Amino acid sequence: MGILLKNGKLLELETGELLPREILIEGKTIQKIAEQLDTTGHEVVDLGGGVIVPGFIDMHVHLRDPGLEYKETIETGTRAAAKGGFTTVACMPNTKPILDTPELMNYIYETAEKTGYCKVVPYAAITCGGRGEELTDMQALKEAGAVGFTDDGVGVQVAGMMRTAMERAKELGLPIVIHAEDESLSGKGCMNEGEVSKRLGLPGIPGVAESVHVARDALLAELTGAHLHVCHISDASAVDAVRWAKRRGIRVTAEVTPHHLLLTDEGIDGTDANWKVNPPLRTENDRKACLEGLLDGTIDMIATDHAPHSVEEKQRAFQVAPFGFVGLETVFPLLYTELVAKSQQMTLQQLVHKMAVAPAEVFDLPGGRVAEGGVADLTVLNLEEERIIDPNDFASKGRNTPFAGWKAKGWPVLTVCEGRITHSRP
Ligand SMILES: [Zn+2]
Repeated sequence: MGILLKNGKLLELETGELLPREILIEGKTIQKIAEQLDTTGHEVVDLGGGVIVPGFIDMHVHLRDPGLEYKETIETGTRAAAKGGFTTVACMPNTKPILDTPELMNYIYETAEKTGYCKVVPYAAITCGGRGEELTDMQALKEAGAVGFTDDGVGVQVAGMMRTAMERAKELGLPIVIHAEDESLSGKGCMNEGEVSKRLGLPGIPGVAESVHVARDALLAELTGAHLHVCHISDASAVDAVRWAKRRGIRVTAEVTPHHLLLTDEGIDGTDANWKVNPPLRTENDRKACLEGLLDGTIDMIATDHAPHSVEEKQRAFQVAPFGFVGLETVFPLLYTELVAKSQQMTLQQLVHKMAVAPAEVFDLPGGRVAEGGVADLTVLNLEEERIIDPNDFASKGRNTPFAGWKAKGWPVLTVCEGRITHSRP
């Protein structure tokens, strides 16, 4: 007995056409796709005219587990992911302890297998404890299933350390994934350095704190031949650095978050820490550069940088509250509404490409397509239904979003991960 999806429209990724198709899933596999299939002996799920796309893949998620379970657990974080249409997420190693041993890789895989609502692939730390002093045992971490190496949360400050990390990563065939931040430039900043930070009297983080690391690491990737992936790009000069590196033939890829595509520092009033994130929301010029980079292929994919915190933590004063927004449950409706439906700056298939196809290709992960014989990772979207974003509805433990109250459409109504229904709403 399989699951038969009826009354759905399959998005053709090349043309953007919506094709009436029925899909039969058996085990973890898409067995058949056709205009009409025999329902005998199968569990039939009516998709109500919803649009079928490949399950989304988010290469930048903080699941906070182990050690920070008051913010999020693998169970709540993956439930949020499934609700947002995701079938795979990559989790960041800045937990407590930091994911820097094979045992901790095993912990992630085992816990996700037991309690998870999507596949979780862990990154391992570049340096022990994320302290930037000593490299981890990258080979053992790869053997335990690490999909890349990152000290996300902080930048690797010493260029020589980064060079050696890249040499090893290159040998292992895994990417170095960077949080680009030069601490001698970012200092104690809590928002973008510019007009708004001056007006509010808050210490700023200049855009160059990001772009000097992107440029440095692109040059080190050229030297070592490593694959460099740039996290959460936010600054116009950093986008230019990636564009330059790609033209030069350097193996660099990049991601951008929904908040850096939709918001600027003009929204910050200096009191509400639900607007505090790192890298910070920057200027309209930077926001436009990020969008342009996404559209011209400089930026390969969208990642949420889902970073849950407790309500109490985010109620602290702006300068001392922790950085970060949740994002898994709202990313698709927000980007679909703002960039596709309202302004037509992107097509639906471009957005799906950036959220599913590109991450699967760049990180060599299963999924990213809906095809016979392929893994049954898919998401069904209701592109019409409009809802107001209410953090109280979140499956995530985090409520910290600057998008509360926004009206958005394009909600995931069904998520199937390896043939299992992980999210379903009428
Ligand atoms: Zn980061």
